[in-house]
Amino acid sequence: MELNRIKEGVSFLSGPTNLGVIETDDGAILIDSGMDDDTARRALNLLEKKVRAVINTHSHADHCGGNAFIKKRTDAQIFAPELESCFIEHPLLEPSYLYSAFPVRELRNKFFMAKPSKVDSTFEEGMISVMGRNIKMIALPGHSINHFGIEVDNVFFCGDAFLSESVLEKHSFPLYFNVGEEKETLNKLLSLKEEYYVPSHGKPGTSVSDTIKANIEKIEEIENAILQGIGKSAEEILSELIPASNPAEYFLCRASLMAFLSHMQECNKIECRMEKGKLIWTTP
Ligand SMILES: [Zn+2]
Repeated sequence: MELNRIKEGVSFLSGPTNLGVIETDDGAILIDSGMDDDTARRALNLLEKKVRAVINTHSHADHCGGNAFIKKRTDAQIFAPELESCFIEHPLLEPSYLYSAFPVRELRNKFFMAKPSKVDSTFEEGMISVMGRNIKMIALPGHSINHFGIEVDNVFFCGDAFLSESVLEKHSFPLYFNVGEEKETLNKLLSLKEEYYVPSHGKPGTSVSDTIKANIEKIEEIENAILQGIGKSAEEILSELIPASNPAEYFLCRASLMAFLSHMQECNKIECRMEKGKLIWTTP
């Protein structure tokens, strides 16, 4: 982990999940807190100022897993988008949604369940003031249920609203909660004119339009691949499209495939029907 200065009062801590740092006269505001206690400890050790607030972009464990440690050490205030705060306060909800019931053992670990932490304030789209700094919250749903991007002084912390090209290459099946919303989010991102963009995974930069276009193309590519393999159950489509190598990967890909199927049904491209006890996806 390394502290990288972007401009006066705005930096980021680089790591598997990049964390934003906003400095104020009274201390620092962190954007996301990393995967676990270790990440949070390293972040606190690297920062010269005391962390007084954490703003979460969303509730995935690699973004809020350090909340509990930071709150215990510094009594920082935790800010999170409203629906995401339910998952942050009750982490069992995340693997339960992926599994559709009390989750299997493979989903009950720190990668899917952050330590629970109390959210002190929830936010919606618009400006909020945190420790005297004006911070703009921009709704970017799709990747998760109520995902947000956070802008301060024309530096935009994008969370997981899109994947950098290297991550996109590695994960051929990105995780979405709502594909329709994700498409709107990607178009919204194309219209933003920020000075600097910091994605949670991958390298920050001054322009993201090519990366956003690659994300849009990836969604089209997956929709086309689903249409090619239509007339089957989700289980069969999944095993042909993205043969997972372990149960955790299987449940993540399955959740994302279900998001594609409901979106494509919404667009009247496919429909589902029962056939000998199996739910089959077909063209209308
Ligand atoms: Zn995420």
